[in-house]
Amino acid sequence: MAHTRVDHAANAAAFIKNGERTHWHDQALWFVRAKRDRAVLTVSEWEQLRETAAQIKRHTLAHLADYLEQFEEQATRRGIHVHWASTADEHNAIVLQILREHGAQKVAKSKSMLTEECELNPVLERHGIEVVDTDLGERIVQLREEPPSHIVLPAIHIKKEEVGQTFHEHLGTAAGATDPKYLTEAARGHLRSKFMAADAGITGVNFAIAETGGVVVCTNEGNADIGVALPKLHIACVGIEKLIPRAADLAVFTRLLARNATGQPVTTYTSHFHGPVPGGELHIVLVDNGRHELRERALFRESLCCIRCGACLNTCPVYRRSGGYSYSATIPGPIGSVLNPARDPKRYYSLPYACSLCGSCADVCPVAIPLDEQLLQLRGVIAGKKYLPLSKRLMMKAASFVMKRSWLYNLSGKMARWWLPKLPRFLVYNRLNAWGRQRELPETPKRSFRELYRKRHEQ
Ligand code: SF4
Ligand code: SF4
Repeated sequence: MAHTRVDHAANAAAFIKNGERTHWHDQALWFVRAKRDRAVLTVSEWEQLRETAAQIKRHTLAHLADYLEQFEEQATRRGIHVHWASTADEHNAIVLQILREHGAQKVAKSKSMLTEECELNPVLERHGIEVVDTDLGERIVQLREEPPSHIVLPAIHIKKEEVGQTFHEHLGTAAGATDPKYLTEAARGHLRSKFMAADAGITGVNFAIAETGGVVVCTNEGNADIGVALPKLHIACVGIEKLIPRAADLAVFTRLLARNATGQPVTTYTSHFHGPVPGGELHIVLVDNGRHELRERALFRESLCCIRCGACLNTCPVYRRSGGYSYSATIPGPIGSVLNPARDPKRYYSLPYACSLCGSCADVCPVAIPLDEQLLQLRGVIAGKKYLPLSKRLMMKAASFVMKRSWLYNLSGKMARWWLPKLPRFLVYNRLNAWGRQRELPETPKRSFRELYRKRHEQ
């Protein structure tokens, strides 16, 4: 199963069958993108902030081992327990062990893409521990037994009518209810009881500060705060790339993150955890899970600068129209199309091709990751490893053969211009012509570009 190859085009075809949903998904994300643009325009030094953020991240990656050591030292001085996990399995085992040692049976978890990456929930559930995702969007997808489809807006693909149905089935709300206020109130009451009953709180981390040994969590719902304030045990799971050197660096990122993610001037709750609650314990699990390996590879190193704002997903014309599930990965969209093939190029060979190379993702990235360039280079890596399907490889070979011979290229063009207008429609628009499935081919010109150019030159 782990090596089932992901066919993005086939998955996208399934998503776009529902034209209404595709249009609405596209518009909803474009709304967020437009809001982000308006927020960005209010900060005149935006480009300087981006540049500074990129430099801080690149500097941290260059000295990662030193900053990790400093972080551990400072955190330990504050009475925080620091754990190291080199793989997802190790991370899950550590979290399970901590929970067992404390006899915890019920966990309130706030949004964490790392725990999604490590597939923590099923592991804990197999050991009889109830895990409740407390972010509203996460809770909706959890009740539907689906993964998140977006890294910031996990339920963006679900309509309010579907949320109403899910809540009716699981929370006992009125049948057919679609009023967002009513549904949110119902979720609030449901989650409150889960918070009250939790033996432990698990959170992700947006930033881990080496200088202070503390971690920072940004949420809009305050669910991380209440989830760790009531129980005595807090476990924070951190990817090692989340490190920043100094507390002063944080301001650069908090100014960028909320504006770029959702167009807000600031995230509603930016919570700092620099020690356990009185009488409690704070455990921080630092997770590698392939990050060191990425850091050693020049092509992928910069992808570790990502602060998971989700803006590249919101702007990407492919993501907006094909939905998060078409990527079959925890992190979808442009950044996912780099990270997933970097780890498993055979399985995710199709993701770098789910891209028009428009460059919009790189334009909006707050840490200036050149995503489009990385995707283009990745295509070379994947083609070089012969991971493309045979049909595509043969087509590329044929195209290369023709394009290397100008006489053959000219002759092919001439033949196409002569034949295409005369061929019956079923011979042009059929299953073999993927391009023609959704659109008409342009009108065949009478002359080639070269002929037109030559003629104009003569005149
Ligand atoms: S360059 Fe590719 S991945 Fe980036 S926004 Fe454009 S289509 Fe999407
Ligand atoms: S790659 Fe850049 S734009 Fe995309 S989620 Fe990461 S930080 Fe945001």
